[in-house]
Order: sequence, then structure tokens, then C-alpha cells
Amino acid sequence: MPSATAILFSGGLDSSILLDVLSRPNVETAPIVPIYVDCGSAWQRAERAAARRFITLLDGTRVLPLVELTMPTDDLYGDHWSLGVGAIPDAESPDEAVYLPGRNALLAVKPLVWCGLHGIGRLALATLASNPFADARTDFFTSFSQALSIAMAVDLEIMRPFAGCSKTDVMRQGRPELLHETFSCIDPQPDAAEPARFIHCGACNKCAERRQAFHAAGIADQTPYRTVRGEGC
Ligand SMILES: [Zn+2]
Repeated sequence: MPSATAILFSGGLDSSILLDVLSRPNVETAPIVPIYVDCGSAWQRAERAAARRFITLLDGTRVLPLVELTMPTDDLYGDHWSLGVGAIPDAESPDEAVYLPGRNALLAVKPLVWCGLHGIGRLALATLASNPFADARTDFFTSFSQALSIAMAVDLEIMRPFAGCSKTDVMRQGRPELLHETFSCIDPQPDAAEPARFIHCGACNKCAERRQAFHAAGIADQTPYRTVRGEGC
């Protein structure tokens, strides 16, 4: 595959906007390979379905089929809310409550190896300037890509086009008609109208962050939420 760019894609707001931006004409001429990593987290059945659906809304000549990898974390995190045990962090929970130790390393390592095996030299991540955790720092990504380049004996670059952007900056780069097709809930609920699908709970920490992102960017939020504002969030 000649000169493709891979992107770590979760189906959430940030990585979906990045995938959309990179796939637009005149922005990136190489094919784009979206890579989804399933860590076995409780919300990933819903998230993964949304990621597959979002891909179909983009230019299929530029965005290649979704590559799906697994990186189980139940043997690392044990009885943890991310694996369906205990209370889900809600709107009042601090950022630290949703931090998963080493998550960026776990999410990036298999995609980088996959890139090395398939002759792709760039992996794009949608990390934002506001990410406060150690594994979102520039020195981590620089060291990590260097280590994987040595390990794979090829040049592997991690690019982060949104590293200097706020959430609002990124939201305004998205197409409003696509934003509600993204998925960013850690407690997905079955859609009463279509039980095979899931909708946002409206009450978890990530739903609160999502609502705030739409509000701060001045974009109408068309996301269907199980809990409407004022009913517990
Ligand atoms: Zn939620």
C-alpha cells in the first residue's frame, strides 16, 4: 500500500473529526487507514458499531476499510468500571476518574506494529492540547515512536494534528451533519426504537464532556441521549 496514513480511530468526536478532515480532498492525498482497538471496555460494543457506521459516511475512495485490532485489558485493570464493574464516572467526576493508566501506550502499540508490517510510516492520533495525562505528552509520543521504529526496523512517526488545539477548535473543524454520528459514552443504553443499536446515556462523564463540547462550540447537539438535560446529569 503506497504512502498511506493510518489513524487511531475510536468513533468518538476527536478521532472522527480528524478522520473526516484528513479524508477531505486536497488535505491528504494518500489513502487513510482507520484502525480501531478493542480493549474489552464495557462501552466498546456500542462504540465499535458506531465507528463502523461512521466510516460509511465518508469518501470510500480515500478512507479504506476499518482495521480492527484487540488489546484486552481485563488482566491489567481487574475489577474496574471500564470493564463493567462498579459505578460509572458521572458528570461530576474529575478527569482523573476516567483515566486509564497506560491507555495511550496500549492503544498505540499494536497499530504501530500493524503499520510497520504493512509499510505505513505514519499513525495519526487525535490527542488534544487539554489532555492532562503523562501518556499524552509530546516526549512520550516521541520516545514511543522511536522505540517502535527501532523494534520494527522501519521509520514510524506518530503525528498529532490536534496537539495544539482545544476541544472547541476541533469541534469547529467537524461537519455539523456528521458530529451526531460520533459516539462518546461510557455507559451506552439500548435504543428503545431500535434495540440492536445503542444511544448515549446522557449522564456519564463522557456524555457531559460531549454536551459541553457542542455548547462551547456553538453547534446544535443532535445526539439522541437517554437522559435529557436536567433529569440526572
Ligand atoms: Zn454516557
